[in-house]
Amino acid sequence: MSGVHGEIRLVVDGSKCDGRGICALVIPERISLDVWGYANVDSSALEDARLIARARRAVRACPAQALTLVGDTRRTRRFVVIGRSR
Ligand code: SF4
Repeated sequence: MSGVHGEIRLVVDGSKCDGRGICALVIPERISLDVWGYANVDSSALEDARLIARARRAVRACPAQALTLVGDTRRTRRFVVIGRSR
């Protein structure tokens, strides 16, 4: 996570999410599913290393590559991508 010193957040691209729901099993504190199974993500800052590790697992597990981890560089106050599923 070079260059990232501040908050880390989990975000979803709703246009890619296909509603399989794997992510909500990995990190239920931050992702819930709507009635069709699409992800609703709480994108507030991840508070601790344990939660960040689980967010990374959710990103890797998403078969639609809809989840991304972003970090705040502080200097620019812009969020940069630090983890994305492949
Ligand atoms: S695992 Fe990916 S595709 Fe499935 S509900 Fe979560 S974000 Fe959407």
